[in-house]
Amino acid sequence: MLDMAYIREHGELLQRTADGKGIALSVAELLELDERRRGLLRKVERLRGERNRYSALIGRLVKQGAREEAEPVRREAQATNDELGALVAELAEVEAGCRKRLLLVPNPVSADTPEGKSDADNVELKRVGEPPAFEFAPLDHVELGEWLGIVDLPRGVKIGGARQYVLKGAGWHLHRAVQQLAMDVLESRGFTPLDVPMMVRGETLRNTGFFPTGEDQVFAIAKEDRYLVGTSEASLVSYLAGEILELDGPIRLAAATACFRREIGSSGRDVHGLYRVHQFSKVEQVVVCENDPELSERLLQEITDNAERILQLLELPYRIVAVCIGDMSQKTHKQYDIETWMPSRQAYGETHSASNLLDFQARRANVRYRDGEGKLRYCHTLNNTAIATPRILIPLLENHQRADGSVYVPQALRPYLGGREELRSD
Ligand code: AMP
Repeated sequence: MLDMAYIREHGELLQRTADGKGIALSVAELLELDERRRGLLRKVERLRGERNRYSALIGRLVKQGAREEAEPVRREAQATNDELGALVAELAEVEAGCRKRLLLVPNPVSADTPEGKSDADNVELKRVGEPPAFEFAPLDHVELGEWLGIVDLPRGVKIGGARQYVLKGAGWHLHRAVQQLAMDVLESRGFTPLDVPMMVRGETLRNTGFFPTGEDQVFAIAKEDRYLVGTSEASLVSYLAGEILELDGPIRLAAATACFRREIGSSGRDVHGLYRVHQFSKVEQVVVCENDPELSERLLQEITDNAERILQLLELPYRIVAVCIGDMSQKTHKQYDIETWMPSRQAYGETHSASNLLDFQARRANVRYRDGEGKLRYCHTLNNTAIATPRILIPLLENHQRADGSVYVPQALRPYLGGREELRSD
């Protein structure tokens, strides 16, 4: 969490950021409450001192046998105690109000973050590859998946309810292959793979900035303080929570996990087929480094490049956009999305999201290191998708389809698919 001294100094900037990110927070109200909290704390401390002095005096008088003189002092002490009790209760309430608001204070965005309200205002930075020009009527991924016998939506719904799916045969292999390819690229670039919990404590999600703002999007496990992660970013950052790290360069961590999201409020073409489902798999990159904005900016480019490399290996056309403030979450300082061409949408669709959080997340999760002068400092944290599937199967199947309904398998995927060069309907 940002500290109060910073918030006091940057109230206007933080209010503008909260408004830009659509977070219902009044920074003035928080500062007012904090002022009240500090005043109450001073009073409580003064009254505690008074109460202690009364107790000592009563003790002395009783010892001297002056019981009668002790009586009015006792009454004073009682009155002080009553006043103290009321103030302590008020302080607890004010502290809870402060904490609730503090948890909503956003991370300021970078100077080059575009203004805007939604993803429509994101700014394209570059395009790589050409969308295919089909000389036949292309199928969408649902039609292709059914034709090839590798995607079964009705049975997914039968088992798990709306927005669930089954991947079968080559569909299952493809789903696993893209994850293994992504993990292999990350390992070759210095990432350590971790298998981490997908079921985590509320504290883990609060510490990593997913609670309270994203709480309505998370599946909670009934009767437990346990939640299903929407991304392994929460687990990977929390792996280092509360620790003082020996940093010998950036720490690069990766995990391949299932992710669960309620996706409240999504509708339209996003809920068609495999685009926005309740359970998907993601290989995630997390980087933790020293508190140095130039270094974390370089690492943001690095994790973006990792994702680009994977898309190039999959031979898919994509573009990179700078995400605008209105499309950013509370914790993000700077964000790039990678969008891959999806023929059925006749548009680029988001497949990757790279963020630099500076020390915002590390403050909440208390991830620190000692700098050159031995001073404790909060780290910077970053994250990016390496691959998310089944969403990536949409461009993979749709861009690589052929007139006869078969699908070309990119070279880099073949070793993971027993050398298969194409998918065909049996
Ligand atoms: P995020 O963690 O929200 O930045 O999402 C990272 C990536 O995960 C997105 O770019 C998508 O590729 C994928 N993804 C996110 N939500 C869903 C969903 N509900 N269904 C399928 N894929 C998703």
